[in-house]
Amino acid sequence: MEKIKMTTPLVEMDGDEMTRILWKMIKDELLLPYIDLKTEYYDLGLEHRNETDDQVTFDSAEATKKYGVAVKCATITPNAARMTEYNLKEMWKSPNGTIRAALDGTVFRAPIVVKGIEPCVRNWEKPITLARHAYGDVYKNTEIKVPGPGKAELVFTAEDGSEIRETIHNFTGSGILQGIHNTDESISSFAKACFNFALDTKQDLWFATKDTISKKYDHNFKDIFQEIYDAEYKEKFEAAGIEYFYTLIDDAVARVMKAKGGFIWACKNYDGDVMSDMVSSAFGSLAMMTSVLVSPDGVYEYEAAHGTVQRHYYKHLQGEETSTNSVATIFAWTGALRKRGELDGIGELTVFADRLEQAVIKTIEAGRMTKDLALITSLKDVTVLSSEAFIKAVRQTFESLA
Ligand code: NAP
Ligand code: MG
Repeated sequence: MEKIKMTTPLVEMDGDEMTRILWKMIKDELLLPYIDLKTEYYDLGLEHRNETDDQVTFDSAEATKKYGVAVKCATITPNAARMTEYNLKEMWKSPNGTIRAALDGTVFRAPIVVKGIEPCVRNWEKPITLARHAYGDVYKNTEIKVPGPGKAELVFTAEDGSEIRETIHNFTGSGILQGIHNTDESISSFAKACFNFALDTKQDLWFATKDTISKKYDHNFKDIFQEIYDAEYKEKFEAAGIEYFYTLIDDAVARVMKAKGGFIWACKNYDGDVMSDMVSSAFGSLAMMTSVLVSPDGVYEYEAAHGTVQRHYYKHLQGEETSTNSVATIFAWTGALRKRGELDGIGELTVFADRLEQAVIKTIEAGRMTKDLALITSLKDVTVLSSEAFIKAVRQTFESLA
């Protein structure tokens, strides 16, 4: 069989620990035998980030803007323990944070649904994709611990020196204060990313805030979404047969629990933080969750939702066999290859991505899976495979489909 040719390179961001091991296995077993893989390689492994003073992360983000599609392996976000472990010059920032800031993107997370791994919520038949706004609110707050009686005010000083001033509270004793913000620009980008992704995946879009209580702050989110929808997306949504649905956040939570799934749920930053963990754990496993960062101008970065699986890596280093789930990382590759295929008009690449995903799902549904899934599956007669044996089993299934 002749290998599939690519025209534009994918931006490849390698990473750390166990996922770096899986990365190479996936390339060697599932990609390189079938595709004349064209990538521009960036090593985001912590050692190389340290050597380059993290320049490599910025370069990889710039390359993503240039080419339009990237695939990223999980990476270590340094903390105090990593400073000593890797003898770091500095506590480098989270690569995901750097890339997100450079692309001004929104992260969409969706579960990979297979028979035998049933969601805890019985009526969820289709995946629920969660879109989290990744800028501002409580994540960029200013806080004061109020020591005692006094007046708290909210003051905005314009460039011309004029002021807007509101009383927050007249404290009669000690207490707490918090200042948060967002920008129309960031909210608009978020809205556009959500509308585009809904059109891209032909799914309804839900959005919710607490606009009845927060009549200016949350209401602004609601208004911006509605204005952009009416001006730029209403007709496209109607043509695609999909819907934009706005409701209150508490109503949305109640409806989500009763829904069948198959839609995108856009959330403000905090709601998205909380609800994405609820949705992903209810669907079964972080290792069965894909994640894609989409910028408002249509740049895509695909990755797995989980981390570098450090505990498994240490076992691997001691020569022990691991059973680490590579599904989300495989789907990061297929997502990126499919998008590249769509953008460059290479049908074989799109077909390859679909077929490889099918092979992964069939392998699991046939009872061959890693330990994390074996622990939660409803299937009988399951074979627990090592990290490597699972990838080889997927290759076998893939070849049988071809
Ligand atoms: P983690 O790598 O997601 O792993 C936490 C635990 O979840 C694992 O110990 C394992 O449980 C289970 N798990 C996660 N992915 C799995 C998989 N593919 N197959 C099987 N089991 C899986 O989170 P962490 O240990 O908290 O973080 C490790 C490193 O990852 C940190 O340095 C963090 O900074 C980084 N991180 C990176 C990203 C990213 O790049 N997107 C995201 C999150 C964290 P058992 O040990 O019980 O088997
Ligand atoms: Mg969180």
